Amino acid sequence: MQIQKHLLLSPAPGTQRELLSLHYGQTGGPKAYIQASLHADELPGMLVAHHLRLKLNALQAAGRISGEIILVPMANPIGLSQYALHMHMGRFEATTGENFNRHYPDQIDTAALAAEPELGSDAARNVQVLRRELKKAVTAAEADTELKSLRRTLMALSCDADIVLDLHCDAQAVMHLYTETPCWPECEALARYLGARVTLLAQDSGDSPFDEACSQVWWKWAKRFEDRFPVPQACLAVTVELRGAADVEHGLAEADAQNIINFLCHRGLISGAAAPMPAAVGDARPLAGCMPIKAETAGVLTFLRQAGETVKAGDVLAHVICPLSGAVAELKSPVDGLFFARDFVRFASAGMKVAKVAGREALRSGKLLGA
Ligand SMILES: [Zn+2]
Repeated sequence: MQIQKHLLLSPAPGTQRELLSLHYGQTGGPKAYIQASLHADELPGMLVAHHLRLKLNALQAAGRISGEIILVPMANPIGLSQYALHMHMGRFEATTGENFNRHYPDQIDTAALAAEPELGSDAARNVQVLRRELKKAVTAAEADTELKSLRRTLMALSCDADIVLDLHCDAQAVMHLYTETPCWPECEALARYLGARVTLLAQDSGDSPFDEACSQVWWKWAKRFEDRFPVPQACLAVTVELRGAADVEHGLAEADAQNIINFLCHRGLISGAAAPMPAAVGDARPLAGCMPIKAETAGVLTFLRQAGETVKAGDVLAHVICPLSGAVAELKSPVDGLFFARDFVRFASAGMKVAKVAGREALRSGKLLGA
């Protein structure tokens, strides 16, 4: 295993952060890229990465890594150091207020223009050329702030991978995934190995989160070169939501790491017989059918249902109780679906979104991701 250090742009004299990437196997074959805790206060991924590292070290020693696997065990040194009033603030950069998992740069046109003269009827060759030009464009892009240099570093490590796993978590939740719709055929095996209760599908959900920046180049190029050059969906990129923020336990993390190894084995990046693929415990649903549950009034929030329960439209999921008047507001599910995530705060301000139910019907439009 090789360890590479990547220096981020120094935001002030005497200060420079670095990112570490662990490199297993060899280049030239299929490539997987896995990063943990891009939202730096979402810790389950960091513990899964710790177990992945132990397992990958052992597999490397046994000569079983046949592809290239890059593990970034902590993807956000900026967010990891942000504290205010004793609270860890790892989701938004303090300087700009920008979400660390949005606004990944779009190099689709630049790479397409550079690649076009070399494209032809051989899809595999087209993939190679497009990957090479994409990596060039990503690496050459300007990054004049520390945050942009972090985004560029992460994209440069991942943009030519066949498989990209971005390890996150929700507040209190069951295992679930986000991926772009064209990735679902390849994502299904991952969902089964990981035991995902739901996979939320969208195409260009808005504001370019990391996984979509990795996967959407391919379906956009496929559209652009339609009828001229074949371009397959050559990257499966998935945001893996490892349950809730407090689910940071060795038992869960070790099992999740093993499930990721089993998937990589199934995909041929690790040699040996893959563990049998478990039956699905969930399904894929439109992200546009994932309904936020909103507190219309402020008050003490108490949930009546647990994350993971199947609910019906009209079921009361939570109460919001005004401490002054004693008024109790009922928060109801607007749809039949899977109540898969809820907040961990227990005071709701007016208008706050406190939970999510995944329905089967696409009812929303516009930008589909929350802040
Ligand atoms: Zn996250």
